[in-house]
Amino acid sequence: MMPPVSRDALDKSDDHLREECGVFGIFGHPEAAAVTALGLHALQHRGQEAAGIVTYDGHQFFNERHIGLVGDNFTKRSVIDRLQGTRAIGHVRYSTTGAPVLRNVQPLFAEFAGGGFAVAHNGNLTNARTLQRRLQKTGSIFQSTSDTEAIIHLTATSPRAHLVERFVDALTQIEGAYSLVAMSEKKLIGVRDPLGVRPLILGELDGAYLFASESCALDIIGAKFIRDVEPGEMIIVTEDGIETLNPFPKMRSRFCIFEYVYFARPDSIIEGRSVYEVRKRIGAELAAESPVPADVVVPVPDSGVPAAIGFAQAANVPFDLGIIRNHYVGRTFIEPSDSIRHMGVKLKHNGNRAVLEGKKVVLVDDSIVRGTTSLKIVQMVRDAGAAEVHMRIASPPTTDSCFYGVDTPEKSKLIASRMSVEEIAQYIKVDSLAFLSIDGLYRAVGLEGRHADAPQYCDACFTGDYPTRLTDRSGCDQMRQLSLLAEAS
Ligand code: AMP
Repeated sequence: MMPPVSRDALDKSDDHLREECGVFGIFGHPEAAAVTALGLHALQHRGQEAAGIVTYDGHQFFNERHIGLVGDNFTKRSVIDRLQGTRAIGHVRYSTTGAPVLRNVQPLFAEFAGGGFAVAHNGNLTNARTLQRRLQKTGSIFQSTSDTEAIIHLTATSPRAHLVERFVDALTQIEGAYSLVAMSEKKLIGVRDPLGVRPLILGELDGAYLFASESCALDIIGAKFIRDVEPGEMIIVTEDGIETLNPFPKMRSRFCIFEYVYFARPDSIIEGRSVYEVRKRIGAELAAESPVPADVVVPVPDSGVPAAIGFAQAANVPFDLGIIRNHYVGRTFIEPSDSIRHMGVKLKHNGNRAVLEGKKVVLVDDSIVRGTTSLKIVQMVRDAGAAEVHMRIASPPTTDSCFYGVDTPEKSKLIASRMSVEEIAQYIKVDSLAFLSIDGLYRAVGLEGRHADAPQYCDACFTGDYPTRLTDRSGCDQMRQLSLLAEAS
């Protein structure tokens, strides 16, 4: 008989590989480490738990990885001075569960037979644990629980001769989402998975090429935007310039639509579109789909602000700041434990009676995940005197977990996977509730709607349509079934 597998253990192991991240890399700049620290600071919204930078000075690699914010760890001259060299890659990270541990902080670094190799990863692999088990059977010793480490082992053990070929060989074995920045002794490499789920751009500063997750990381250092790294493209920077490869079979791209809804910074330009403008169009679509007679449109700051502006302009209702945010608290969601998350909401927002008293309020937020934030915010708005509260959500109901690098809880914790819109409305105690339709969301990014034969995004969190195999999960489901059988027998 199979030994019973604890369902709890499965659920936790399921969660622990999920990460939100931002990456940066630069080749040939005299202030490589300082520039990377600034780039990472601009990408801090993509991960606030830990940050790391690896540099290379032509002889040696240097490595600084810290738990905490970029500004708290990479602003001292002494730290930057330790990171010598004109080439650097960096990473900011947030992982969903478990204590933040230094061994998981990226960039990951390894000494291969042919020299050092560092990798920074934004995204999530959906077969990392399957690969890890396979590699462990043949002797690989893993130092972290980060899925990125599988890429390093696969590169190290590839039978191919040259580093780039070995790296490509490794990438052809992984599934899921990855925008990677990697560095060897001779090269800086930027690569996006064939679906292009996570963003990655190429830029230039004082003649030095650089990669970054978002264009806001270029603006902070006055760098020039060159272009997006294409889905499935690998760009290799050396002292001789740049070379581009397309080593994977061509696929229809599926960029993450939630980057537009919430994750990316509003001042970033992604795929040629301003994130801010897309969010305003989302608000306008929402106003057209679900109008409501009201006195004032109030955003849940900061995530609901652009959509609320778009809603107010389209509906011709005044926009006002009915909720004030305390900026000295991190994002509510980016707090590891449930109790802190609850506290965070109270710490972070306050109702502004001057705006809300006696008013019919349209409250706009970008998404409802567990429902915790909305429940508290609605109560806060009522406590500050609102006569009616009509909630409008700038995305469709979040019904499914993301396995590609956006932190979402498991499906059973997503309120929209358990309740209808009417039930959620009752639960959060609003007078009315409406979500944007999936077609409305596609219209906001400039398409006609969601059609199977038209360009598509990864919208799995709203549709359950996952664009890659979920190998680790199917393994997990099989184990779960075996465990239930074992329990029953
Ligand atoms: P909840 O309280 O779980 O419903 O969380 C909803 C709030 O979390 C919304 O106000 C969003 O702005 C924010 N949010 C949604 N998705 C994420 C995410 N992946 N990471 C951090 N915050 C998020």
